[in-house]
Amino acid sequence: MATTTLEEQTQELEHIEIWKCKQPECKAWTRKEFVTEELPDCPLCKSPMVRSYKHLPVMDKKTKKKFLVGKGRSK
Ligand SMILES: [Zn+2]
Repeated sequence: MATTTLEEQTQELEHIEIWKCKQPECKAWTRKEFVTEELPDCPLCKSPMVRSYKHLPVMDKKTKKKFLVGKGRSK
């Protein structure tokens, strides 16, 4: 039996398609599903964008909905 218990929170990652700015110094990128243009331009520096991939934490749809409902809450 294994006695080592690693209570590390492993965030599940999602492999998504994105468009990212061609300029190496520009950090702009957007999810491909949000882009309707065939060849979008960077919203920041107007350079052409290239297709790429990114790993993002998986979003819990239930949490997202709850968040929208409770957005009027303040400290
Ligand atoms: Zn850019």
